[in-house]
Amino acid sequence: MRKSPTSSSYTRSDGPPFVGILFCPECNNMLYPKEDKETKTLYYACRNCPHKQLAQNKCVYVNKIVQDVDELRNIVPDVINDPALPRTDCHPCPQCGRREAVFFQADSRRADSEMRLYYVCRNPKCLLRWTE
Ligand SMILES: [Zn+2]
Ligand SMILES: [Zn+2]
Repeated sequence: MRKSPTSSSYTRSDGPPFVGILFCPECNNMLYPKEDKETKTLYYACRNCPHKQLAQNKCVYVNKIVQDVDELRNIVPDVINDPALPRTDCHPCPQCGRREAVFFQADSRRADSEMRLYYVCRNPKCLLRWTE
């Protein structure tokens, strides 16, 4: 017999299920997620009136992390042999500890990662890609 241990979590409370869209309690317009860069918090703001509220879930941040991981995946390990790229021994590899990595600036259209540096471990058995 297979039981479904999660079935009880589908019990509904009154009211519509939360699907990620919030509406302004003041004027009933849709709220848009915004990021406060200074405090690194996520909030929802109404475009129709000054109402804003803190976000209850971190979905936008999850998406952002996934995007970063994708960017790291797009780095080809061959860059370690590119003589045009600078090397550093001040940033030991978080995986193998080797103090030899190439680094470069992200070629990104996203404004918030303009200054971000990407590192690739030059240990051929490691080739870890990471960012700070
Ligand atoms: Zn409003
Ligand atoms: Zn390494």
